[in-house]
Amino acid sequence: MGTMASTLAHELNQPITAVANYVEAVRDLLTEANPEDLPMIREALDDSVREALRAGQIVRRLRDFVARGEVEKTVENLPTLIGEAAALGLMGAREKGVDAQFDLAPDASKVLLDKVQIQQVLINLLRNAVEAMAASSERHLWITSRREKAGFVRVTVADSGPGVSPDVAEQLFTAFVSTKSEGMGLGLSICRTIVEANGGRIWLEARPGGGSQFHFTLVEAEPENANDG
Ligand code: ADP
Repeated sequence: MGTMASTLAHELNQPITAVANYVEAVRDLLTEANPEDLPMIREALDDSVREALRAGQIVRRLRDFVARGEVEKTVENLPTLIGEAAALGLMGAREKGVDAQFDLAPDASKVLLDKVQIQQVLINLLRNAVEAMAASSERHLWITSRREKAGFVRVTVADSGPGVSPDVAEQLFTAFVSTKSEGMGLGLSICRTIVEANGGRIWLEARPGGGSQFHFTLVEAEPENANDG
């Protein structure tokens, strides 16, 4: 998953850089508004459309890769899975002044999922939260799990950062939405694909008191009354 994502990030850079260059060229040609430049402008715009479509295909390939057949579901212990993911996702976070609190419900322990994929989701959410709080005076992170009705478990990653602005929030789980100078905006789009391929959903809420909280659901293994007969 990590290799696939970095390969794609690399592949994506080409068409995106090309689009930026074409659009810049068009903008420069338009400052002098010379009718003779029109064919060149049209050509540059055609080229940028082609490159943008290529970028879209690359993302679709990734979504297919994640969604199709590559999901290997096993019964896992959720607190253990979260602990392992947090060890990776929160590496160096304490040194940055981040205080992480875990509140994992014992009755929300057995889940059916692709462990590597869901850990990738958690790592993404944790890293985003730590990055978001870089400039905050308070740096709290809460990782919660709760049993939901109807065979689902909910995991929440909440932070005391600046929160997500409403215009960004609207398209947050779409590819290429990023407020970071080096960001590809692929993290949350991949998270959504993974969570949905594992039978759950993912969404964002503003945190009362400031910050954001990302929730996602997982399928519970052995719902209580499934073993009774
Ligand atoms: P990237 O990290 O490459 O920007 P993501 O899809 O992971 O891509 O995130 C998209 C955007 O969502 C980020 O650029 C950031 O603006 C916003 N975001 C994500 N998580 C948080 C968070 N916990 N708090 C505030 N903003 C966030």
